[in-house]
Amino acid sequence: MGLQHGVFLVPIESLFTQIADAFPAMEKPQGMALTFHPRGCPHCLFLRDDLAEYQRHPLPEAAIRVVQHEMSCLSAAGWLWVMPSYLLHCLKYIDERDRSEIQFLIYNLAPKPAYVEETKMRLVHFNRAQLQCLVQFLQCCQAHKHWSVHCEAALQQALNFVCDLQAVTSGS
Ligand SMILES: [Zn+2]
Repeated sequence: MGLQHGVFLVPIESLFTQIADAFPAMEKPQGMALTFHPRGCPHCLFLRDDLAEYQRHPLPEAAIRVVQHEMSCLSAAGWLWVMPSYLLHCLKYIDERDRSEIQFLIYNLAPKPAYVEETKMRLVHFNRAQLQCLVQFLQCCQAHKHWSVHCEAALQQALNFVCDLQAVTSGS
């Protein structure tokens, strides 16, 4: 795997544990509950179909690949269900430069102004500890020699976005 994490603010091993603790096992949201848009969005339909065979954690890489292209079509419950697998997957491969799944997550957490409100809606079920896992993932990327350069502006924007959300989120 070759994790080179000497410069990370949080040791990657403890982040793995933190994610496992912060996201308790949950049932997969069934049917329309998995997706975000009202009936009729073809991307939501594809997403439900393409994820139909995956019911349990950890989601395999093939499922992560499905999700990465349609993250804005996942419902709030869908985000919560997918995220522990997605984050652990990203951390596992953080040293591989061509991991677009990492880039997609960063960009999805750095919405353009027109998409800020709907992005907040997708993260509405995250508690502070779960948002903290996102913050620490972003900090790991920011401390990483490749992602810090490749996604510099989006990373800062994503950190600001998630930290602002965390500041107004109650509960642990
Ligand atoms: Zn959709």
